[in-house]
Amino acid sequence: MSSFNTSLPASKPAPIHRLDESVINRIAAGEIIQRPSNALKELIENSLDAGATSITIAVKDGGLKLLQIQDNGHGIRKEDLAIVCERHTTSKLKVYEDLSTIQTYGFRGEALASISHVSHLTLTTKQADSECAYRARYSDGVLVQAKPGESSNPEPCAGNNGTIIAAEDLFYNISSRKSALKNARNEYNSIFEVASRYAIHNSGVAFTCRKMDSVKADLNTQQGASVVNNIRQVFGFNAAECLVKVEHEDAGTGASFTGLVSNAAHVMHKSVFLLFINHRLVDNSQIKQAVEALYGSVMPKGSRPFVYLDLQIKPENVDVNVHPTKREVRFLHEDTIIGSI
Ligand code: ADP
Ligand code: MG
Repeated sequence: MSSFNTSLPASKPAPIHRLDESVINRIAAGEIIQRPSNALKELIENSLDAGATSITIAVKDGGLKLLQIQDNGHGIRKEDLAIVCERHTTSKLKVYEDLSTIQTYGFRGEALASISHVSHLTLTTKQADSECAYRARYSDGVLVQAKPGESSNPEPCAGNNGTIIAAEDLFYNISSRKSALKNARNEYNSIFEVASRYAIHNSGVAFTCRKMDSVKADLNTQQGASVVNNIRQVFGFNAAECLVKVEHEDAGTGASFTGLVSNAAHVMHKSVFLLFINHRLVDNSQIKQAVEALYGSVMPKGSRPFVYLDLQIKPENVDVNVHPTKREVRFLHEDTIIGSI
């Protein structure tokens, strides 16, 4: 159906009609999952929410051909597999008020649904007390069959405890997006950036990230390695040698932070800024600008800082719901907190 009829005289409005459910869902999914690394961030957060201590990522063609993540978390109940990829299905939020105390990364129940609307999604999961794993395939939020004539019900199979999610042919049904993202190397770099930052912040979890066709992992952190060790692995020896520990607690706002920041001896040509607010990897341009301005006044010209900040703000003071990808967050007392940083 053409969306805009140019033959209608301008004086007459076009009739208003209701969009198809599938069109609505695909538009919403395209906003949440803008590129493969957005999908990966959601999947990593789901694995962390499931208590995983090991997360393994494998990527083909920058995640556009295949993005796969395996964890050893608590798995998904077999009886939930029929609805897990529907929009607004979640095990993490019941009433609106829960948002003010939410401790998990997820709450909207939209990530798996969105990914299933823009890719072919296969989910394999096993709970520790289940005898076997189950594999299910999804398209547009619902279970689908692997081959014509087969059942779409989850099939029992062998598997380790935990969950494997594979998203294939991402954006196969959004051709404009697919052509905008044809640089697989850029997409892989962005995937690596998300994976390595979560690896640094979650030193209790082993992270691996590799390209499907390469034997060597680009990221390979050990469970229980220190944050500094993880920074060394990702950003190199020099970055890790010049770090100073910072911490602060603000009695008035109840906010606190710890961090590792480069000292004045550190010479790097690109600034690195890792900001976690309540363990969520986020952007906050005000904090970034304030910190960069401070460094700008003391560092030699052309040298850039390395800053890793782990900021804790009372959950009731944070609005995590301002951005479809949850990339930006807003919080109360922004100016005071930035001042103390
Ligand atoms: P949300 O995280 O907002 O709840 P998602 O669409 O990301 O929504 O996930 C839907 C539900 O699927 C989660 O609430 C969780 O119960 C389950 N789930 C998703 N990924 C995993 C995983 N890796 N391990 C265990 N459970 C998972
Ligand atoms: Mg989630």
